[in-house]
Amino acid sequence: EDRLLSGERREEDHQDGSLRPRRLDDFTGQKEVRENLDVFIKAASAREEAMDHVLFFGPPGLGKTTLSQIVASELGVGFRATSGPVIAKAGDLAALLTNLQPRDVLFIDEIHRLNPAVEEILYPAMEDFQLDLIIGEGPAARSVRIDLPPFTLVGATTRSGLLTTPLRDRFGIPLRLRFYEPEELVSIVARGARLLNFDMTEEGAMEIARRSRGTPRIAGRLLRRVRDFAAVAEKSPVDKFIADAALTRLEVDNLGLDSQDRRYLNCIASNYGGGPVGVDTLAAALSEERDTIEDVIEPYLLQQGLIQRTPRGRMLGVKGFKHLGLTPPRQAGG
Ligand code: ADP
Repeated sequence: EDRLLSGERREEDHQDGSLRPRRLDDFTGQKEVRENLDVFIKAASAREEAMDHVLFFGPPGLGKTTLSQIVASELGVGFRATSGPVIAKAGDLAALLTNLQPRDVLFIDEIHRLNPAVEEILYPAMEDFQLDLIIGEGPAARSVRIDLPPFTLVGATTRSGLLTTPLRDRFGIPLRLRFYEPEELVSIVARGARLLNFDMTEEGAMEIARRSRGTPRIAGRLLRRVRDFAAVAEKSPVDKFIADAALTRLEVDNLGLDSQDRRYLNCIASNYGGGPVGVDTLAAALSEERDTIEDVIEPYLLQQGLIQRTPRGRMLGVKGFKHLGLTPPRQAGG
């Protein structure tokens, strides 16, 4: 799904690298996570041991990959990255693990999508730095045990609840990433403009920040679009009027919602009287994957109080009705 406002990685995000902070001190926001990591990094470095395994969870685009790279560089160790769906067989994981240098960081994105057979062999690898592999088939099959270099596994997932309990329990350091505050996004946008070498006013940065759904990846993407728009219009510095004009043209509204969000909200309002409506029903009505709805669309709408999650399904809040320009029914919550 190609969507300007999704926090998920898209084709154009290959440029992401240029805006990626490299050190913990350059990383804006997620204060608690940063403070925690700082302690664990220093302790592991002092002991000259592999740091404990880390699980990052939170919506896409909040900095899970970036923080994993920062952990490796702060530890002064190598960094290898892969993702759950890419590791098809136990042997693929074995190859990755046996090629690590002591204390390296292995990053597995979308770790909830590991195939169960692969996950099985990950347990002893994480716990005892040992691989138990079955070699051969049928009566000739035998199991071999291979010692691994001590390493740090960094897993990333959108919701920790997607992991099996045994996998989740093997991460000593579970860290939850939250949507960024507007002020944090303002400094991320301002830093991005500096790195991309163009002038922008504080209000221009605020306009982009406010409409980025609390997500640095979206902020970076909108920043590039605004820059292009301003360049064509020959406006410098980029101020709030030019930012607003560009974002309005891109159909990003003043809360940072796009047509897909509004379609979702309208569906609950018009088809289901404001809810409650089950997520599977909504997914069918909108022709979206349930996962996309739960991981990409809903978190920000929930955080903004536009919708509520109830045991009987999703409901539009008063703020949701108002945002659509509708009068909320008397029983609407929020
Ligand atoms: P995730 O792995 O959670 O999907 P990434 O780590 O790939 O997210 O981050 C997406 C992009 O957002 C990165 O390229 C980076 O440029 C930017 N980014 C993320 N967090 C920050 C931050 N705290 N400060 C500045 N830029 C950030």
